[in-house]
Amino acid sequence: MLNVICPHNCKDCYALRACALHALVDQQGAIYVDTDKCIGCGCCKTICVTFGYKALEEKTTAWLMGAA
Ligand code: SF4
Ligand code: SF4
Repeated sequence: MLNVICPHNCKDCYALRACALHALVDQQGAIYVDTDKCIGCGCCKTICVTFGYKALEEKTTAWLMGAA
């Protein structure tokens, strides 16, 4: 399932590049997580909070995996 993370807050999404499993997608002007691919490693969340506009700050790894 694709769950929306943010409306592409950063011009170049840092989190998207961090995901080795390519579970994040840039589609229709927004950033989504593919919950079927995500393993909950948390790398995207760390990068987003550190370098981006913190859209993933409140999201749990369980949410990224579609479990919450
Ligand atoms: S706020 Fe996070 S998820 Fe949104 S575009 Fe920026 S780095 Fe990507
Ligand atoms: S938590 Fe999920 S979406 Fe984020 S980097 Fe890890 S596998 Fe990719």
